[in-house]
Amino acid sequence: MDAGRFDSDVVVIGGGPGGSATAITCALLGLRVRLLERHSFPAERPGETLHPGVEPVLAQLGVADRLASVVGSRHEGIRICWGGTTRFEPYGHDDSGPWRGYQVWRPDFDAMLLNRARELGVQVFQPCSAIEVLQTHGVVAGVQTSAGPMTAPIVVDASGRSHWLGTKLGIERSVHSPPLVARYGYAEGSLPALDRSPSLVGDSSGWLWTAMIRPGLYQWAQVAFDGHRYPASWRPDEFRRLIPHGPPRGADVTWRLSRRTADPGWFLVGDAAAILDPTSAKGILKALLSGITTGKLISAVVTGTAPADEVAALYNDWLSGWFISDRNQLANFYLSLGVPHFQSINRKVPKAAGLKCSTGYCGRIVRLHLGKVSERWM
Ligand SMILES: Cc1cc2nc3c(=O)[nH]c(=O)nc-3n(C[C@H](O)[C@H](O)[C@H](O)COP(=O)(O)OP(=O)(O)OC[C@H]3O[C@@H](n4cnc5c(N)ncnc54)[C@H](O)[C@@H]3O)c2cc1C
Repeated sequence: MDAGRFDSDVVVIGGGPGGSATAITCALLGLRVRLLERHSFPAERPGETLHPGVEPVLAQLGVADRLASVVGSRHEGIRICWGGTTRFEPYGHDDSGPWRGYQVWRPDFDAMLLNRARELGVQVFQPCSAIEVLQTHGVVAGVQTSAGPMTAPIVVDASGRSHWLGTKLGIERSVHSPPLVARYGYAEGSLPALDRSPSLVGDSSGWLWTAMIRPGLYQWAQVAFDGHRYPASWRPDEFRRLIPHGPPRGADVTWRLSRRTADPGWFLVGDAAAILDPTSAKGILKALLSGITTGKLISAVVTGTAPADEVAALYNDWLSGWFISDRNQLANFYLSLGVPHFQSINRKVPKAAGLKCSTGYCGRIVRLHLGKVSERWM
């Protein structure tokens, strides 16, 4: 690869968890990285509950010791009340005690990761938007941005639900659920019932998630399975006596997977690659892990250790297999609770595309660097 032709080795679009994890990993492996984020921080966005498995992942990124500074509270599991039956679902435990999840305030969490990227020498452009894909002979070779052209042999799309690069390249997403819209909001005050653990209350028409993010700040999120539209001012009854922290918002959380998640020249990570609704509670973990994986694979390509087409095939297989497995788990969960809208989902796991890696490097990368984390937590 003729590195001299390019301004950097990698351009990353998006400064959320997926983009920062990619940029940090690439920088740790000695690559020249540019990252563009269209919003100035702090930028409010949903996704506060982190699975306990996030800790070893953050350790790989060198920020595990900073986590405490952005954590508002911890919890040992989720209280689930579905169809009138209530149970407490713990995360699990090991010899050192119960595993505990984290509640973080996303503006702080995202800033923590992006600052780590800056410390490692990533050139962060913010606010700066991706505008157009730059291509040479049909191959992605950079991005036209609001700060000018940025060229690189590899572009990573970590733009979240907007699926920016996929849309520009005309890569469709397969849809795996009925249309699902999450409405969510925040409020300040006191709700002692949520102080010990988040709560998921649901029935065959939809669910309501409520959680304490930090003492005095609470979140609710709600999804209707039947497409029922609530008035814009709707919020849960118990939140009516709290002070709203901003207006309620909405997000399309229909399950979808990009038909391709990598090719020589580009990768999709996090929500840009695949989305499940927030009940899966692993959106951030997946964004971080797909970013770390992508960073390692990019390094293998840029240093000439592994062929770009094999690496892309490996990533496609790995990510789609993971998505299908989580999708089936979530569909089974909803079906076991009597939600009819998920019956038509084909839960057959497709056969992997059959990666042939001539160097054997690709398989090793996943086993050695991700195996321990992924086997335990995915
Ligand atoms: C209501 C709700 C509740 C959720 N709760 C949880 C939860 O409790 N736990 C959990 O793990 N997950 C949760 N999620 C999912 C979680 O929010 C996402 O999975 C996660 O944020 C994905 O990270 P990401 O880095 O892929 O994308 P994002 O966090 O969306 O980051 C994408 C970034 O790209 C930037 N960007 C977009 N387009 C451009 C462009 N053209 N140029 C430059 N920059 C651009 C954006 O500004 C943004 O900063 C929830 C989602 C919703 C909707």
